[in-house]
Amino acid sequence: MLFSSYRSKLLVYIITMMVLLAGSLIYTYSYVRNILLQEDEHHVDSVAQIFLSQLEAEKIEYQRYADIVAEDLRIKEYMFVIVGIGSEAQPLKDIYDRHFGWLPISRYVVVSRDKGEMLVGREHADLGKTVLDILKHTDRGTFYSYGDYGLELIAVSPIVYRGRRLGSIAVSYFMDDAWLSRYMKNSGGELFLTQDGIVLGSSSRKYIGQPFKIDNSRVQLGKDIFFVRPMELSPVHGSIPKVWFSLPETSLMKRLEKHRKATMLIILASLSVILLLGFIIVRNFTEPLSQLVKLAGEVAAGNLPRLDKSVAKNEITELSNQFSDMLQALREQQKEIQIVHAELEKSAITDSLTGLYNRRHLNDIFPKLIAQAERSSQRLFALLIDLDKFKNINDTYGHVCGDKCLQDFSDCLRQVSRANDYLFRMGGEEFLVLALSDDTKGIVALSEKIRRAIENLEVECNGQIIRFTISCGISYAKPGESSDENLNSMLSLADAALYRAKKEGRNRVRVDEHIQV
Ligand code: GH3
Ligand code: MG
Ligand code: MG
Repeated sequence: MLFSSYRSKLLVYIITMMVLLAGSLIYTYSYVRNILLQEDEHHVDSVAQIFLSQLEAEKIEYQRYADIVAEDLRIKEYMFVIVGIGSEAQPLKDIYDRHFGWLPISRYVVVSRDKGEMLVGREHADLGKTVLDILKHTDRGTFYSYGDYGLELIAVSPIVYRGRRLGSIAVSYFMDDAWLSRYMKNSGGELFLTQDGIVLGSSSRKYIGQPFKIDNSRVQLGKDIFFVRPMELSPVHGSIPKVWFSLPETSLMKRLEKHRKATMLIILASLSVILLLGFIIVRNFTEPLSQLVKLAGEVAAGNLPRLDKSVAKNEITELSNQFSDMLQALREQQKEIQIVHAELEKSAITDSLTGLYNRRHLNDIFPKLIAQAERSSQRLFALLIDLDKFKNINDTYGHVCGDKCLQDFSDCLRQVSRANDYLFRMGGEEFLVLALSDDTKGIVALSEKIRRAIENLEVECNGQIIRFTISCGISYAKPGESSDENLNSMLSLADAALYRAKKEGRNRVRVDEHIQV
C-alpha cells in the first residue's frame, strides 16, 4: 500500500509542511503587495483629482483673463469705434498690449460680431478660425483645442458696449512641454498626450513616440511603469489627443522586488531547513527502525546477528540497544543450549558408570569403521572382554565395590588401549574394543597386554584390595550382506572365542578359530 510505511508518511508530512509554509509566505507576500498597490492606486486617484481641480482652476483663470479684457472700457470704446466707424484695428492692439500685455497668455485674437472677421491677431488665423467656429454655438466659455501649436486652452468673452455686442476676445494658452513640466513639478506626476496609442507629448521627451498600452491601469514605457488615469478635458473644440495623468510605479516595484527576493530567500531557506530536518528524521528514525525490522526478520529466520550499541540517547537507540541486549541474551542462551545439547548427545552414546561408548553407539559407528577399514585396507578387530567370576566380587564386596571395579577396569582399559581404538561397554561386565589393524599378532599382543594389566590391577574399595581377571575373545569383521549382519557375525565369532577362553580356565585370550595367527 502506498503511504503505509512511516517513511512515506513522513515524506507526506514534510511535503505538506513545505507546501503550507511556501503557500503562507507567498500569500503574505501577495497580500502585502496588493495592499501596497491598492494604496498607490488610491494615491494616484487622489493626486489625479487634485490635478483635475487645478485644470478647472486654470479654466476659470483664463476665462477671467478674457473677461477682464472684454470688460475694459477702453477696449470696449475702441471696439465701438472700429466696428461702428470702421477705423483701423491697430490702436486696439496697442491698448491691449499696453494694458494687458502682462497677462500670462500665449496669444489672443479679437473678432467682430457683425462681419465675423478678425480685427486683431490676424497672424493667428488658425486661432481666429477656431474662435469664429466656437462663436457659432456660444459667446462665452473655455475650450480645449488641438492645432498647429499642440493642445491649447482658449477662453472666449463677448465685448459688449452700451448693450450692443460688438465682438469677442479670445485668449489662449499653449499646453506645451513647459506646461507639462510645470504640472509634473506641482503634482509629481507625468502627463501624457496620446493619439492612436502613441505618446504625442510628455514632460520627458524620451517617452514621445513610444507605444502607450494600458494594462490593468498601468502603462510601461521602456523600463518605467506608470499608474495612469484618463483626464477628461471638456469642453473641447474639434478632436484633441487623450490626456493621461500618471504616477511612476518604479520605486514601488523596486521595493516590492526587494521584498519578493527576501520572501523567496526565506522560502528557499525554510524549505531547505525542512528538507534537511526531514532527511535527518528519516535517517535517525526510519533507518534504525528498518534495520531493527530486518534484524527481527533474521532472528525469525533462526539467526542471531550482532547489533552494535549506540551511545546516542533517544527512544529509537534505547529500543535498538535493548534489542542488542536481547540478541546477546539469546546468543548466551543458545550457547548454553548447545553445551547441554552436546552433553545430551554425549550421554546418549556413552555409558554413565564407565564413560565408555554404549551398545547403541556401536550400531551407529560400526558402518563408518567398516568403511574406514576398507579405505585403509585394514581389518576391524573385535576384542570382546568379560570380567571373570564377577558375580562373586559383587557377592563378596558388595555392589558398590563391584561398580568401582567396573570403573577402574574402564580406566585401565583406556590407558592400555591405543588412542584410535574404540571402547564400548556392551552391558553388565562385558566390554568390547574395536581396533583397526592389518596385524593379527599385534591385536593378540594388545589383548594380552590388557589381560595382564587387569591381572595386576588392584581395586581399592572400603579399605580392601580387590583383584580380578578378564577373559577375551578376538574376531574381525568380514564383508557381508549388510552392516548389521556383519556386526552380528563379528560379535558372535568373538563371543565364541570368549566362550572358549572361559571354558579353558578364564584369564586368557582366545582368537576366533578361522583366524590364522
Ligand atoms: P563368568 O566368569 O562365567 O563370566 O562368571 P560371572 O560371575 O562373571 O558371570 P555371570 O554372568 O553369572 O555374572 C555376571 C554378574 O555381573 C551378574 C551381575 O551381578 C554382575 N553385574 C552386571 N552388571 C553389573 C553392574 O553394573 N554392577 C555390578 N556391581 N555388578 C554387575
Ligand atoms: Mg563375567
Ligand atoms: Mg558376563
